[in-house]
This record gives sequence, structure tokens and C-alpha cells, in this order.
Amino acid sequence: MAKFDLILKGGLIIDPANDFEETGDVGIASGHIERVAPEIDSTESSSTIDVSGKWVMPGQIDTHAHVAGLSRNWDPALGYAMLAKAGTTTVLDMGGTGQTLIDGIKRKGAGLNVAGLFALIPGSTITTREPDAGQISDIVSNALSQGCFGIKMLGGYHPFTPETTSKIIAECNARLAYIAFHIGTRESGSHLGGLREIPQLVGKGRLHVCHVNSYCRGVIEDADDECDEAIAILDDMKGQLNSEAYHAVQNGTNGTCDAKGAVIANVPRNCLRLRGYQPTREGMREAILDGYASVVAQKGSEVLYVKGKEALNLFEAANTNVGMSFPVNLPSSAFRLVTAKSDDDEFSVDAVSTDGGSHPRNVAIQSTMALVKFGALSRLEMVTKLSRTPARMLGLPNKGHFSEGADADITVLDPLISEPVMTIVAGVPIMQDGKVVGSGGTLLVTPEGRQVARNSGLPFQVVDLKESKLYENFR
Ligand SMILES: [Zn+2]
Repeated sequence: MAKFDLILKGGLIIDPANDFEETGDVGIASGHIERVAPEIDSTESSSTIDVSGKWVMPGQIDTHAHVAGLSRNWDPALGYAMLAKAGTTTVLDMGGTGQTLIDGIKRKGAGLNVAGLFALIPGSTITTREPDAGQISDIVSNALSQGCFGIKMLGGYHPFTPETTSKIIAECNARLAYIAFHIGTRESGSHLGGLREIPQLVGKGRLHVCHVNSYCRGVIEDADDECDEAIAILDDMKGQLNSEAYHAVQNGTNGTCDAKGAVIANVPRNCLRLRGYQPTREGMREAILDGYASVVAQKGSEVLYVKGKEALNLFEAANTNVGMSFPVNLPSSAFRLVTAKSDDDEFSVDAVSTDGGSHPRNVAIQSTMALVKFGALSRLEMVTKLSRTPARMLGLPNKGHFSEGADADITVLDPLISEPVMTIVAGVPIMQDGKVVGSGGTLLVTPEGRQVARNSGLPFQVVDLKESKLYENFR
């Protein structure tokens, strides 16, 4: 019998955990890394793939994407194939329910490892506008037992008071549930002002700060100063926070207006004001026709940005309840946030994410490869931000590196075109040359989610978040 199931031959292997960057072969057996060596005899394997000229990295882990959300405008589960195509092997979904997560993997999964957070949406996923201590405890229990990894607070859309926000963080911390926050309370907003509240809200606790770049759009101060302040806040709380930033210029939001014609959510209101539009239905109409605002829409099995008259028709037909996008993320902010390091030579922002999935902006790999070409990051640093640190953030010690026995999750990149060309999960290709061939997926759950994971019939892995960067050295 062959010693290996698959050998990837002749690629540049990039493995920051082992400080390794050399051309060689990767031998895979039973879904795990069996050997990394300058040359492995092809006759020892039942299958080989020539990856000479390519970069071979531990599978990209996206710590902020959307595959299980509650959008009515498109099927979020389409995001699985979009991510597989973009080189992603493991994804943290930023807000759905256990049911939408499991259902989506079964319908449209593309073979990825998937952890999901329970989105706190008053009137939809939870009943109260301001849950009290008892209700918060029940919400967290319920989230974990339905197979979620923890909780997502959507302060930019459904903010709570600072007191409630703080209680939710503390409850998740006490239970070692994952807790992620799109910044903003009733007293701040989805901008730097919200980030300034973080030390007070978190105290000695732990928190995943979502898409740091989106609070550095120049809403309150000059954008460069906002970056400096954001980095200082993260550096001051080093050891307590997980953080990520994405590089896409397009943001993601929605256009919903109330009966009086006012745009409801904080985020699109900020976007409209940034370019001098009124935060109203009429302001939104103008922004769409001017080409500033795009509508996000599903066409066939693709999710796309639609502009102009066609976009306006979609906006009106849905009575304003459409996914929308504005080109408000500043490349200069993304650059500063991705490259910034604290005094200990660690990155200030942990990871590069996409905030994509079903939103068509899964550019983490392309944009980070561009920074390598630009000379702003080394290849080892690129993989640190795309795989190694994300694995630590999520408590996945067998991922993010190529040590013997590690999970054989691998992303193969073509440096000539700056794109992923192969995605491998547990030794099996789920994407090759742009064609997605994977299906289903492996559910990542906490111990409380074991039963529902078993009942789902999906393969699953129980993760101890004590092992995660979020909770290491916690109490
Ligand atoms: Zn998001």
C-alpha cells in the first residue's frame, strides 16, 4: 500500500509556524501532513500533483465571512463555493443561527470547515431589545447548544446599551463562548467612537473586534489619525482581543428605510453622509443613480454588485430592503492596519479577513499577495495573517502550519497571477484551477454543540476554546 495518498511536488512551501520557506514536497496521508521534505519519491504515493512555481501555504482561514446570515436578497450559502474558489479552507461565519448554518452546509457546502456565530437580532433571533442577565445567559446557552461557536453582536445595526453590551461580553467570557462584535452601542456608533468604548466595555475580558478597517473611514477624525488611534487601542489591549481587517474597498450594508423615508441603520447613514447625501430614501435613490451605491443581488448562482437604473429598480421593488454596498473602505487604512506592528514585533491587527463569503469581495489572498509584491509584507508574514494566527484565534492547533500530523488543509497560490489555484481540505481538493469540486463541510462546535452536530449527520469537530488565542491565559 502507498505510504501517501497525495504528494504536492516542487512548490515553495511557506510555513511561518516552523519558520520554513523552501522549495520541496508535501506528503499527505489520511488527511494529515505526513512529511515535508526537499524531495519525496513519487512511487510512495497513489497520487501526485505538480505545483512547481506555485506557493504552498497552510489553508487560508477566514475569520470574518458571511455564509449563514439571514439575508432575504440572496442565498448566503452560495458563499461556500465562493470561498472555496478564493482559497479558503476554514471559515468563521459572522452571524446566523445554528439552523441556517447546518442547513446551508448541507445544501451548498463546498467542503470547508465551518464555525458559526449566533447573531443577536432583536425581533428576529432574540425577542427583547435589551436582554437582561437571565435572558443573556439563556441566549448564550441556546446558541452553543444549537451548534454555534458563540455570539455575534451587530452594534452597527442592532446596538444595545453599553451596560447590556458589557454583560453579553462577560457572559460569553464566563462560558468560554466565542464573542465577536461589530462595534457600536446606543451611545456610540459603527466608527472610531465605538472603538473608543472597547476598553470600558471589555474590562479584563476577551473580545473579537470585527473588521477594524471599517472604523477608520474618516468619519470622526482624519482617516490616518483614526488608524493610529485604532492601533493604539488594540496594542493597549494586546492579549485580550482577536482582531481582523479586510482589504476590499466595497463595504456591505443594507438600504432599509422606515415609513417616513429615513435610512434606518447607522452604517448606510454614515456612508451617505460621507459623500454629502441625505440619509433618506431620496438620498439613497440619488446615490444609486450616481453610481456611488450598489445593490448586492443574486443572479443565478452568483452574487454580484448591480449599479444604476437596474439597482434602483431592485431597491424600489424590495421596498428598500436590499443588500447594499458603498466604496467607503480606504486602501490607505487597510494598508496601515495590515502592516502595523506593536513594540513586541507582533501584528497589531491579527488577521486579514474578507467580510465576504456570499458578499462578492473574497480578495484576502489576492490583496495580501499584492502587499508581498509591493514589499510591505514578507511571504511568511502573509501566511501568518492568512492562516497561522487565524488558526490560533479559533483554537485550532492542528491547522495553520505544516508540522507532521497537522490537518492537511492547504492553499496553493500562483504568484504569476496572484490568485489561489487549489484549495485542499483534509487532503482532498475542494477547488482546482477555479473549479469548485467540494461539497458538504465539517462543522466546528463547542462541547455544548456536540449533540446537535451529531444529529446533523455532518462530520464535526469539537473545539476547546480554552486553546484559542482569545482565551489563552484567561483567568
Ligand atoms: Zn461582516
